[in-house]
Amino acid sequence: MQSDDVRQVKERLDIVEVIGDYVRLRKAGANFIGLCPFHEEKTPSFNVSPSRQTFHCFGCGQGGDIFTFIMEKEGLSFREALETLADRAGIRLSPVPGKDRQSKSLFDIMERACTLYQSLLQEAGGEAARAYLSRRSLPPDAWRRFELGWAPSSWDTLWNVLFREGVRPKEAVDAGLVLEGRNGMYDRFRGRVIFPVRDISGRLLAFGGRLIDGEGAKYINSPEGVLYSKRRNLYLLQKAREAARARERLILVEGYMDAIRLHLSGYPEAAASLGTALTEDQAMLIRRFTDRCFICYDSDIAGQEAAIRGMYVLQKAGLDVRVVELPRGKDPDDLLCLPDGKALFDKALESARPLVLHHVFLRADMLRSPEKRKRASDEILSGIALLSPVDAAPYIPKVAAALGIFPHELSAMLDEYRKRRQPGAQGEKPAEKKESVQRDSGSRIDEIEAALCALLRKDDRIRRTGDERRVLSLLNDERLQTVAAALFSTSSIDELEARWHSLGETFPFQAIAVGGDWCDGPGSSGGGWDAVIAILEKRKIQQEYDLILEKLSRGEATSDDLVRFQEVARSLKGCESPGKGK
Ligand SMILES: [Zn+2]
Repeated sequence: MQSDDVRQVKERLDIVEVIGDYVRLRKAGANFIGLCPFHEEKTPSFNVSPSRQTFHCFGCGQGGDIFTFIMEKEGLSFREALETLADRAGIRLSPVPGKDRQSKSLFDIMERACTLYQSLLQEAGGEAARAYLSRRSLPPDAWRRFELGWAPSSWDTLWNVLFREGVRPKEAVDAGLVLEGRNGMYDRFRGRVIFPVRDISGRLLAFGGRLIDGEGAKYINSPEGVLYSKRRNLYLLQKAREAARARERLILVEGYMDAIRLHLSGYPEAAASLGTALTEDQAMLIRRFTDRCFICYDSDIAGQEAAIRGMYVLQKAGLDVRVVELPRGKDPDDLLCLPDGKALFDKALESARPLVLHHVFLRADMLRSPEKRKRASDEILSGIALLSPVDAAPYIPKVAAALGIFPHELSAMLDEYRKRRQPGAQGEKPAEKKESVQRDSGSRIDEIEAALCALLRKDDRIRRTGDERRVLSLLNDERLQTVAAALFSTSSIDELEARWHSLGETFPFQAIAVGGDWCDGPGSSGGGWDAVIAILEKRKIQQEYDLILEKLSRGEATSDDLVRFQEVARSLKGCESPGKGK
């Protein structure tokens, strides 16, 4: 049953770990806090509770459990979120009724291809590939660790297998594995060593294929499409994330081989950008784990203007970017394969330069040449102008010196530059980001009423013995009344939550997270159910008192109102004095 699946996933996965892939969390008391991924903020108001397995943002009000988080963050339906999380937890989901003979998911197809490629590498036909990998100093245990495979030169090895197993042509095409030609379907990857690309939650999105001999592009990759977007992923980041967090840096290299080599050589905090211009999405991905990024491209690429622009994209997104300079003509893989490679590499890491200074250093020759001077200084200025004045400030003196001007002149030039760039340059982004925040605003959840729901959820004794009508009458928010009523009437919280999830109801989870946070907070002073009921009762009476008082002041009160007013006033005094107005 679905509710069993939901329960199992919840038991296996820790919300702190799952959310930790998206948000950098740090411990604060019993909870974890971080910058909210649903709205822009500078100081953390996003709260994750390991004991309750919920999250809640005090800034924008988003909240819920592990499923709500993945649904909101990845834009998935409940079923998709369940599948994603079950995958991660290593749980086999019970089949959905009436869906048995349905198509496999694209991820299943990708996994099938991956297993096939891996076994083909081991078989007789994989000889040439194995020889290639040994030449590149990749031992068999590395093949397994990085799931390397072999796609033979034939046109349809993979497609034949997929077809036999009931995969439809469209699915195989959507997965990026086969192409449709005039004579039927044929494999995309042929005669290539295969590198699987997984996203940070471990889903297999794409393959890269390295040609081992013959004509053709050295590398080809899965196409951009249903599964894969190069701009949003980094190769091996999934394996690198823990180390990146622990070592407080990510080493970014160019290609598959470089990334694998770094992992094998004692730098598990490495990932590869796979040849695209670096993007803001990638920067945000990195920032989930660390603020520092060491970029380590081979020297030809690192010097190119396009590469440098990409590095500024990372820096602008808040990363502290350092550029590692390798000996000319060497990429990280070459270097680390040398006998003294590790020492050389360590030295290069140690002397990595902050991006701006690296840029100035690269253009030093041009800056000395009268003809090229103008171009080089424009390029450097446009780079630094991308940074906020605060981020740029530390470099002003050195850069000014390199340009042969005074620091205050450089500052003035930068101000000028920023002003000229502002209009139009980037008008759309902020609006786009607000979208997800707006949805539930204007309907903030009352914390104490929500606390009542959270306590109801937690304690089945109260659900069984509590006075439902009295409790519901204490809630002003109809949405919370519905939640509380559902909690009262269910015999299994797991089932109820699975139903909410499958109906796409996010509100109950949000409410329970908000309420749970309130119960943990100082406002509740540790009081449980009785304390919350007492607060709400008093509030209710106060509201009635205010209402009759208003009627009285308008001269509209009936004699019944007057009797009731005295009762209400008396019971308020019983608690404490009814404080005017409020
Ligand atoms: Zn928020």
